[in-house]
Amino acid sequence: MSIPNEKYKSLSAAEFFKNYPELTGFSNPARALYQTIRELVENSLDATDVHGILPTIKISINKVMDNDDIYLVSVEDNGIGIPPNNVPAAFAKVLYSSKYALRQTRGMYGLGIKAAVLYSQMYTGQPVEVVSAPLNSSRVYFFKLQIDISQNEPVIITKGSAPNRNTWHGTLVKINILGDWGKSKQRIFEYIKRTAIITPYAEFFYRDAENHLYVFRRLTNKMPLPPKTVKPHPYGVDIELLKELIREKEESVVLNLLRENFQGIGEVTAKEVLERAGIGINKKNKNLTQEEIKKLADVLRTYEKFRPPSSDALSSIGEELIKIGLKETLNAEFVEAVSRSPKVYSGHPFIVEAGVAYGGKIELSDEPQLLRYANKIPLLYDEKSDVTWKVVSEIDWKRYGVEFPAPLVIMVHVCSTKIPYKSTGKESISDVIEIEKEIKNAVSQVARKLKDYLTQLKKREEAKKRLLNFLKYSSEVANSLAYIKTNGDEKKIKDEENKLRRQLIEIIKTRLGAKEEIDEVVKKLEVVIG
Ligand code: ADP
Ligand code: MG
Repeated sequence: MSIPNEKYKSLSAAEFFKNYPELTGFSNPARALYQTIRELVENSLDATDVHGILPTIKISINKVMDNDDIYLVSVEDNGIGIPPNNVPAAFAKVLYSSKYALRQTRGMYGLGIKAAVLYSQMYTGQPVEVVSAPLNSSRVYFFKLQIDISQNEPVIITKGSAPNRNTWHGTLVKINILGDWGKSKQRIFEYIKRTAIITPYAEFFYRDAENHLYVFRRLTNKMPLPPKTVKPHPYGVDIELLKELIREKEESVVLNLLRENFQGIGEVTAKEVLERAGIGINKKNKNLTQEEIKKLADVLRTYEKFRPPSSDALSSIGEELIKIGLKETLNAEFVEAVSRSPKVYSGHPFIVEAGVAYGGKIELSDEPQLLRYANKIPLLYDEKSDVTWKVVSEIDWKRYGVEFPAPLVIMVHVCSTKIPYKSTGKESISDVIEIEKEIKNAVSQVARKLKDYLTQLKKREEAKKRLLNFLKYSSEVANSLAYIKTNGDEKKIKDEENKLRRQLIEIIKTRLGAKEEIDEVVKKLEVVIG
């Protein structure tokens, strides 16, 4: 057998993601256009609401040339901007991010915008353009950037700055993308609409590739509390994390290592943990043996007395905002929402929220229309592989009084410092048992509220029917009674009859408890009865 002549080489992160664009959602031109909008909008929202700024987001898509499927996508926000020194790497170095901290943000991989830049570079050869002014910056900075793919380093094509006369802050990104407008326009619109539902405190101006302008106005000035950056919880610790912390402070002692770097570990707990791990509290970090580090990691992961992970790092929407978003954007007749208390899976805190919208302008469908969200991001693809779909499709809606086709929308929002996405494209959530259970609880809770409403609705419908029957006879009854009461006095009889009829209607109203419906019916019948 001849000796194989295998060639070995290593890939840069940029090369890897360029080779596998489908991992980041860039699998074809239709997906690419949608994904680009998504990455840009999510960055813009992270730069605003995470920092307590009411978002104003302007999105536009323009066809670059008539005979070419290249679109110029541009997204502008009023966010915190990006320090000029960080702009090149933020936009042109794969796996570079300001969001590797422990708090809830839409971005988390440091990948999104670079995936778009790579795709753009592959099919248009054009650089990405960034204009940005950080908060209170006296200058506005602009860049044209590309990625040196083999090195995974930014290449600055041009850069410059100008005085910031209007004290503007925020970021404008322009990028050319090979796209398929026909195949993506519906999804892109749906994405923006669903984003508007979950961020009713934001305003969106969207000019599409056919020059239609859509405005999703701000529905409220109330924003959810921004997430706080927290320290890691010891339940999520591993040997490598401990080693990194040790390297950072070699001369310090292990007691302080525990106290300073983890949430919920004070002096007393730290001492207990170290005792259990058989390590002296004053041992220097650099003197910890490999075995002691492993033992310490084991104890930290299993110590049963830690408080559960803090939910300060989360920023849920809350019932009020969910209801506003659903009601106004869908023009629903009935909306309800629940926001569950924080729970934990594998050391990560999470919150599940659910909303229901029924009737009004919602279209009839044969199953509930599902709006899925993770960390305030609408998820549009891979619905059937999402844990939320699993839960919602298993519910017996008849039990809740729903008969399909029905105008029913169910929304589910999962937020966490770590959403267990199935892929880097962030389109569906894995079926983690704890999360699944919470989704079930949340959806059943809103479903019960829907049931109450539908029961009430049914009652009203029935009341209406019964009332119609009563009303049919009310004139005759009133007339006979009036005859008896007035002794057949022709002059008084009409007045008396009217009076009695009104009294009868009042009695029916209080009996049936459906005042609005009755008023409506009476008004219609008034004409007939005279
Ligand atoms: P991620 O969002 O996962 O961090 P991205 O590649 O999408 O990764 O973005 C990289 C970084 O660039 C972000 O972490 C952020 O610091 C910065 N950034 C991108 N867009 C904006 C923006 N519109 N405003 C402020 N910062 C931004
Ligand atoms: Mg991002």
